Amino acid sequence: MEAVKMVDLKGQYDKISQEIDTAISGVINSSAFINGPDVKTFENNLAAYLNVKYAIGCGNGTDALQAALMALGLKPGDEVITTTFTFVSTAETIALLGLKPVLVDTEPDTFNMCPRQTEKAITSRTRAIMPVHLYGQCCNMDFLSGLAVKYNLNIIEDAAQALGADYTFADGQVKKAGAIGHIGCTSFFPTKNLGCFGDGGALFTNNAELAEKIRMIVNHGMKVKYRQETIGVNSRLDSIQAAILNIKLKYLDVYNDSRRKAAEYYDNAFRDNPKIIIPSRTRQSSHIFHQYTLKTTGIDRDELKRFLASRQIPSMIYYPVPVHLQNAYRYLGHKEGDFPVSERLCKTVLSLPMHTELSDKQLEYITDNVTEYTK
Ligand SMILES: *Cc1c(COP(=O)(O)O)cnc(C)c1O
Repeated sequence: MEAVKMVDLKGQYDKISQEIDTAISGVINSSAFINGPDVKTFENNLAAYLNVKYAIGCGNGTDALQAALMALGLKPGDEVITTTFTFVSTAETIALLGLKPVLVDTEPDTFNMCPRQTEKAITSRTRAIMPVHLYGQCCNMDFLSGLAVKYNLNIIEDAAQALGADYTFADGQVKKAGAIGHIGCTSFFPTKNLGCFGDGGALFTNNAELAEKIRMIVNHGMKVKYRQETIGVNSRLDSIQAAILNIKLKYLDVYNDSRRKAAEYYDNAFRDNPKIIIPSRTRQSSHIFHQYTLKTTGIDRDELKRFLASRQIPSMIYYPVPVHLQNAYRYLGHKEGDFPVSERLCKTVLSLPMHTELSDKQLEYITDNVTEYTK
């Protein structure tokens, strides 16, 4: 059996290496490294996949979130609500723009931001909500979209971990993660479900005015070369990355299916294990398992992690510290105990190897060892 890896980018590349290599050398031979035709093609393909009017590439997922906030024209002091149990990018970009990150706690079963606490956090200064579809499953978008209408707020989705997930609204409408809010954002960081060979990101919207603004913001605020209409940044998707993504987008659904298959294997192995709580699935959202994250109960999570490591099985803790307890965000004035669900999750979650190349042999080896430890 091949050694178990947390992610296996090389194994995935090997299966499509010819296509990828041809695409890369195509860009090199054309020398259209910045804003080349591959970028436009990819933006069009991605917009079609997500069923949105506009997709705009940018330098990375964090820049996408920042450009989204900039496009909404928010003013210093405006409040933006996001979750404390996530990667830092949402809180980081809100804070960086002089806006106020307002953090809320998590639902213990879905790991996503708590809809009811989100409503409670709304004040007269609230301008936007940034839900993060954590680990690959969408937040309660029926409820959050309702809040946006009721309180006249914008929704910026962080779909960095959920590209390809479907959300079914109560009225039967189905939308893709990232295509639900006023603006959707994603990342093409190599380990994401749709990853490139470096940094990359994109924004989505159905609003022509926002799309035009975003397009300017990520390219120095220019619509016409050397004419700055607005203050922008330099955050473009490289042509080489776009060419790679154009190939990989064709396989995204296949990739997500193979992750789902691995998740089912894990589910079946752990469903009746009293010390392991398998990730819950909601009725509304499909799950694309960016991570397979279990919760331990009645055992020491860190000891399980060490035991697995001793058997050459990697595992990761996403995330060990919630945003509100990070040193950089002390100034928000939170203390331990403010968001008990998130704090508890930080102590009990464990993400197992999850990628497109896991074999049944490897899955059996991983699950047998988890079962042995928890016996
Ligand atoms: C990866 C990730 C980001 C940031 O994307 P980068 O491309 O690394 O900037 C933001 N939010 C979430 C939830 C992520 O997983």
